[in-house]
Amino acid sequence: MNLPEYVNEPYADYTVADNNAAYRAALENVRGQLGRDYPLIIGDQHIMLTDAILSVNPCNPQQVIGRVSSATAAHAQQALEVAQTAFQSWKNTSLETRVAVLVKAAQIIRERKLEYNAWLTLEVGKNYAEAEGETAEAVDFLEYYARSALSLLKTVQTYQLPGEHDRAEYIPLGVGVSITPWNFPFAIFLGQACAPIVAGNTMIVKPAEDSAVIAYKAIELLLEAGLPHGVINYLPGLGEVVGDALVKHPMTRFISFTGSKSVGLHINAEAAKVGAGQKWIKRVTLELGGKDSMIIDETADLEAAASAAVAGAFGFAGQKCSALSRLIVVDSVYAQVLESVTQKVKALTVGDPADNKYVNAVINQESLEKSKHYLEIAPTEGRVTVGGSASSNPETEGYFVQPTVVADVKPHAKLAQDEIFAPILTVIPVKDFEEAVQVFNNTDYGLTGGIFSSDPQRLERAERELHVGNLYLNRKITGAMVGCHPFGGFNLSGTDSKAGGPDYLLHFVQMKSIARKI
Ligand code: NAD
Repeated sequence: MNLPEYVNEPYADYTVADNNAAYRAALENVRGQLGRDYPLIIGDQHIMLTDAILSVNPCNPQQVIGRVSSATAAHAQQALEVAQTAFQSWKNTSLETRVAVLVKAAQIIRERKLEYNAWLTLEVGKNYAEAEGETAEAVDFLEYYARSALSLLKTVQTYQLPGEHDRAEYIPLGVGVSITPWNFPFAIFLGQACAPIVAGNTMIVKPAEDSAVIAYKAIELLLEAGLPHGVINYLPGLGEVVGDALVKHPMTRFISFTGSKSVGLHINAEAAKVGAGQKWIKRVTLELGGKDSMIIDETADLEAAASAAVAGAFGFAGQKCSALSRLIVVDSVYAQVLESVTQKVKALTVGDPADNKYVNAVINQESLEKSKHYLEIAPTEGRVTVGGSASSNPETEGYFVQPTVVADVKPHAKLAQDEIFAPILTVIPVKDFEEAVQVFNNTDYGLTGGIFSSDPQRLERAERELHVGNLYLNRKITGAMVGCHPFGGFNLSGTDSKAGGPDYLLHFVQMKSIARKI
């Protein structure tokens, strides 16, 4: 099987009038589909429950995106049994057939990209460019893992002991559980499910409560692409109910999780326990939160640096695990950078992403309350230069937080250490580059980070000493591209599984070594 060389999916430009009009038409079309009921999908059964989770538009919570059936521990048991049965045939399905499903799914997304973009705008609040980036990333994950399976899983090189025929092969692990966050509810949801699937595993997928409708759309398209029933099972519901049941169950072979540090560490601890009848050590990959920093030194292109800081901190309202939340600036250019960042933030448009505003609402009431908490302590830990308030929009009750910059924050302050996940940027002054490096590395996390400098020696030192899984030099720290920037964090940001990287599929296989005496 020969696939064309991998390239990242191109983005459409929605400043072009025709593209913009097409996006608005897609929104109108999807608005006509809102408020429906969605079932669980276990094997070939669609199970509609009266107990449902309400998914709403964060910019206008009165608008119900859909009511999604809420699975219980009993459904987890049922899904694990179905996935175990499906595993017996899927693991023996040829690699080429499995790859073909991913390639077909990628093609379906390309054809219906605007529709998926529109669901992302309405369910989680992505503006046109952010939604476009996510659907393109979903295509990239599918195309990349398809090629990766063909190159990585087909043959294993071994030396030959005299008198023996020696070989090794990768075989899938079994039934896996994928638990995903709401902030990349299509790309991460699809990538995290389909990487194990192309390697021959069967999956139970538990999407986040706030984004379970777009996840259902993703399942629909995989089934349409030819994925057999039971290979993927859709189990939306409460994390602490169905998520917990799946994690603890002895039939679960592996868990792939992306989400917050606290939930990830809880899952790690639970997965380490061996349940009654369990025959394996559960394998766990965790991709968690971040408190991501960028250094600007006195040699930097300050204008470019300030623009990159604003894009990194306020794109999708700061709700990316890679988002900039600590800007570390050396004293001699501090005032100038702060002024520039403040002015750029004042110019950002805040409002409904359906109207393509830049800064959208945060995802839910809980996130709004968390933002309010940090905005309350902001004047005690620093100086607010722009923004500083959060409230429901009086008309729509959307969960809006004003894009906020808090200057003069100390490196150990709460604002400089806690992941807030909202459009709130802290700016930390340091005396020089040396201190900047220390401050950069002084959090529990290690996901993304960057530096703006024109000094080659400092850039070299930055490469060695800034301890993050994804480091960016003289560019923004968000927007990792599948295949180019393998993505995953150090320290308490996760197990560094590197989604979209060359070894990612190896998390979902085990190597069987076979030696035959000649
Ligand atoms: P979250 O941890 O609250 O939820 C993630 C998922 O875990 C959801 O599906 C939730 O229902 C489930 N869950 C909750 N409690 C559970 C339990 N006890 N057992 C099993 N599952 C449970 O995270 P979120 O708010 O959805 O997402 C935001 C977080 O995700 C941020 O911390 C962000 O940095 C992180 N994130 C990390 C990456 C990465 O690649 N490192 C990417 C995206 C998001």
